[in-house]
Amino acid sequence: MPQKHFKTSNPNPAITALPDLGMEEKHLIADFKHYYSHRLGRDEHCNSPHYAYEALALAISDRLIERWKKTFNAYKQTDCKKAYYLSMEFLMGRALSNAMLNLGIDTIVERAMYDLGLDLEELIDSEPDAGLGNGGLGRLAACFIDSCATLHLPVTGYGLRYEYGMFSQLIINGEQVEKADHWLHNGNVWEIERPEYTQRIQFGGYCDSHIDENGNKRISWVNTHDVLAVPFDTPIPGYHNGTVNTLRLWKASATEEFDLEEFNAGDYAEAVAAKNIAENITMVLYPNDANENGKELRLRQQYFLASASLQDVLASWIGRHGRNFSEFAAKNCFQLNDTHPSIAVAELMRLLVDIHGLSWHQAWAITIRVMAYTNHTLLPEALERWPVPLFKQLLPRLMEIIFEINAHFMAEVSAHWPGDKERLTRMSIIEEGHEQQVRMAYLAIVGSFSVNGVAALHSKLLQQGLFRDFYELWPHKFNNKTNGVTPRRWLADCNPELAELITDTIGDGWLTDLSLLKKLEPYAEDRQFRKRWYEVQQSAKQRMIDFKKMEMDVELDVDALFDVQVKRIHEYKRQLLNVLHVIHLYDRIKRGDIDNWTKRCVLIGGKAAPGYYMAKKIIKLINNVSQVINDDPDVGNKLKLVFLPNYRVSAMEKICPGADLSEQISTAGKEASGTGNMKLMMNGAITIGTLDGANIEIREEVGDENFFLFGLTEEQVEKMTHHYDPVTIINQDEDLQRVIGLLECGHFNQFEPGIFDDILVSIKSPHDPWMTIADFRSYIDAQTRVEAAYKDQEHWTRMSILNCANSGKFSTDRTITEYNNEIWKLTPVKVD
Ligand SMILES: *Cc1c(COP(=O)(O)O)cnc(C)c1O
Repeated sequence: MPQKHFKTSNPNPAITALPDLGMEEKHLIADFKHYYSHRLGRDEHCNSPHYAYEALALAISDRLIERWKKTFNAYKQTDCKKAYYLSMEFLMGRALSNAMLNLGIDTIVERAMYDLGLDLEELIDSEPDAGLGNGGLGRLAACFIDSCATLHLPVTGYGLRYEYGMFSQLIINGEQVEKADHWLHNGNVWEIERPEYTQRIQFGGYCDSHIDENGNKRISWVNTHDVLAVPFDTPIPGYHNGTVNTLRLWKASATEEFDLEEFNAGDYAEAVAAKNIAENITMVLYPNDANENGKELRLRQQYFLASASLQDVLASWIGRHGRNFSEFAAKNCFQLNDTHPSIAVAELMRLLVDIHGLSWHQAWAITIRVMAYTNHTLLPEALERWPVPLFKQLLPRLMEIIFEINAHFMAEVSAHWPGDKERLTRMSIIEEGHEQQVRMAYLAIVGSFSVNGVAALHSKLLQQGLFRDFYELWPHKFNNKTNGVTPRRWLADCNPELAELITDTIGDGWLTDLSLLKKLEPYAEDRQFRKRWYEVQQSAKQRMIDFKKMEMDVELDVDALFDVQVKRIHEYKRQLLNVLHVIHLYDRIKRGDIDNWTKRCVLIGGKAAPGYYMAKKIIKLINNVSQVINDDPDVGNKLKLVFLPNYRVSAMEKICPGADLSEQISTAGKEASGTGNMKLMMNGAITIGTLDGANIEIREEVGDENFFLFGLTEEQVEKMTHHYDPVTIINQDEDLQRVIGLLECGHFNQFEPGIFDDILVSIKSPHDPWMTIADFRSYIDAQTRVEAAYKDQEHWTRMSILNCANSGKFSTDRTITEYNNEIWKLTPVKVD
């Protein structure tokens, strides 16, 4: 190996003295032309926006990488404490315009592309979404790492580089059809492969014990089938601050000797098949939101992420400190995004004890000082449990370690509550039953020093309900961190006209201190300002109409109320309640009850998990109702219902500037936080919502008079579960009777008899956990108040301004500051 030719130590000025990667228009144009012509081999005859996008992205990527290296060196020099955000999902969306904005070159690039005769918008739209997540949880991870970089915090995101991200949704004959999302099809200019940091991950095999030279019992995990984890790094720029952090995503790759073994045995086909099994681990994102699914491949993915990331951090630690772990806990913190990566608790124990020779006691003291767990759901069906036999077979050493963690934990519970057998059974990490199960949430709680929910109500319900026993044992571990969204992507980048109006009015400080939006409040009384605000919103609505026109042939009226519900399709989110209201409006039109009518366009979008039968039925219902209403000449432009196909980050960026009304209508106590509600509020939409998740805090911030509240409270929902009687409610409400009657008589499925029977059965069931019928009347009444408010345009605009002005709390800069002050305790590192 000619390794002597690679100079590794001592800075080499001949290498580092590069051209300055200038930020002026002429530099960008020169680099753009260079990439377009030489790297991509294009010329003036090429008119695909894709190559122009790539050339621009490469030029911008170069500028990110310069800052990335400086950030890396600043962290190295200060030897600072670091945090790692472990998440199975990072729903990043597109990178180009966000990178332009954060680097502060958005206007320069606009001018450069204009001078080159290119349509920047078209380039931006030709980037595929990095859809490596399902919904809120994955998008939160993406917003978090943006805020960490903006706040100068040394935080690395660790995730999986799925070959196929969230499926694309087609609507065919009103039904969802999934199409695989091969997002890497044209390559990915933003990532850099780092094969030198490859890690080896073990699966299968068995455990062997022996006595070492010091007389200690040691375990080795042997005869395993190993898979390599190869990291791909994406730069994450902070806003106007020189910091560029890292998102490190692991790709599974077969080991060479694994191939060879099989190849020597003479079976080439077997060898290739084995390679596929290994590489399948990061092939596809599981498309389930708030839904456990218990597949072996999913457990493989989880362990693969946890093990690769921990080994990576330990390797870097050892590179600097040798095998001295005395300061490790003071310098490192792992935030677990839900239970998905919670096997990290056991894996860190394995690495410290088996590989690095620490005692159990030493290793546990470290583990419970570095792990922190975020819970994202109260829905019992989403709580992960793995069958012990599956666990044992796939990860035998990890299973032993979990049993040992549990034994120590059970001893602690016994000491705290002597003789309380029931409590032991309730709290055990191992659930007994005809098949034992590992309760991943309990493993996460036992192994962490911090457990947080994602909105005030959610955190309170965790302490009082799901995790009550644990709260009684360790109240100090529990805390709340209300979610947020990054105002760079979700206001500045997606709604530049509104951002400009805001900056013109109060300056640009809001981009890094969103509480400054409060300064807009007095302008709500300024008629001139309201006029400008209204015009910006109307032009955003027009843009959304144009965007929709390309996809479907429905005429939307820019003067109608744009009523938006976009989020995953799930029974608890109650898209059904929304549809019942639409049917009620339709019924009113048909019976001539149209005095003082407020025109309304109801826009609903979202994906259903492919195996979620009811969610798919709901999509079909929305599309069928839409067809009947939109085609009915009696209805005209009084009412439209549109299903927006393939909801994703880049779609939300186009939708949220044009929304008037934000539908946040989940059954109280079921939505942990919601973040779609925050994006819409920030862009001036007014919320109609229940007292659930972060809606409660939104209403607190904006005031009851600027929020349309309806529905049962969480306590009322709980109380009602045992005597819920939807049929009686229907019989006592004439409007509701008529709506149910239209559904039952097949008005929306004339040629598809019976297809909505299951929906009707579920909402009429006294066991319906989502209590759609219970909230119908209150929802309709709130919608009537919406109509009245929208009629008074000045009043509505005032409310819109006040919603934006009071959305400051919902910046992830605030959320991350709280994570850092109360959990991570990192010192910001400025990069020059
Ligand atoms: C913000 C966002 C979500 C989360 O929406 P909720 O209304 O909080 O469920 C889901 N998907 C995408 C693409 C998003 O941008």
